[in-house]
Amino acid sequence: MGERTVIALGGNAIAPAGTAGTAEEQTVNIWRTMRQIAELVADGLDQLVLTHGNGPQVGNVLIKNELARDVVPPVPLDWCVAQTQATIGFTIADTLGHELRRLGHERPVVPVVSRVLVAADDPAFALPTKPIGPYLGDPDDVARRERDGQQFVRVGERGWRRVVPSPQPLACVDRPAVDLLLDDGAIVVANGGGGIPVVEQPDGPLGGVEAVIDKDLAGALLAEELGATTFVILTDVPAVAIDYGTPQQRWLGEVSLAELRGLQDGGHFSAGSMGPKVEAACRFVERTGGRAAIASLDDVVAAAGGTAGTRILAST
Ligand code: ADP
Ligand code: MG
Repeated sequence: MGERTVIALGGNAIAPAGTAGTAEEQTVNIWRTMRQIAELVADGLDQLVLTHGNGPQVGNVLIKNELARDVVPPVPLDWCVAQTQATIGFTIADTLGHELRRLGHERPVVPVVSRVLVAADDPAFALPTKPIGPYLGDPDDVARRERDGQQFVRVGERGWRRVVPSPQPLACVDRPAVDLLLDDGAIVVANGGGGIPVVEQPDGPLGGVEAVIDKDLAGALLAEELGATTFVILTDVPAVAIDYGTPQQRWLGEVSLAELRGLQDGGHFSAGSMGPKVEAACRFVERTGGRAAIASLDDVVAAAGGTAGTRILAST
């Protein structure tokens, strides 16, 4: 078996804040990142899995669902996640395939519709925390949706956002398919949007549930299950910072697992953004002894090579 690398792309890779997020814009953004990923592959990276976020995209699918509810039946959230795996997976395959051909390193790029098992009794189902979709400003609108069973949190001055449960990923259901594809030389896109959340049902197929799994935690689990040696989380900041956004802010380069785990458990990193990334990277290193990095999208090649971003050392 060759060396395996899992790279997680943040939502910012696809639809940066402040852009409208048209299909054209999303394609251009993905393409820009895939140009760098293709370079990595041309440099000799062997077995590669890409995973990606879907926050803005799944929110948009939900809005369409709602606006059209009197015309076509709305579909559940797990179907919406599946739809985003398809559109983002298609665009990655299309642009990365093109870039690989351009460099003379043609490889199949295969997006896998991927399910991730969660526990039906995960406490997250009673306490939705994951914000999805747009900010809503009209309290009457929010009240009407709450009567429909949706839940909202107030986000400062900007209004309300819908929140959904974000249960812990327990197992990557489609991991055996990813294994086969990797061993046959494909580059695989898997666990998009954290994977389609499913639960075990008595005497039936796995069933989808209304939740969105954190894509960094699901990426770390996939990397562990695949026996990957390297797990890289790419986002829109150069590294993890201590005292982020304060005058004392300091970027972390190489950091020991013990130090980063201590900061994470002490609640140093914010729950909605850097917290899950640090948790995911720490889990991967703790469980596998492999290499993990959190870095900027602009530093794909250096981050995979261990020379950019925050690098977590298993022992020092
Ligand atoms: P993604 O879409 O890539 O998953 P997020 O927006 O969820 O990214 O998280 C990245 C953001 O985390 C950065 O843009 C930054 O503003 C924020 N952030 C919060 N705390 C930190 C920290 N300690 N160090 C670096 N960035 C942080
Ligand atoms: Mg984001």
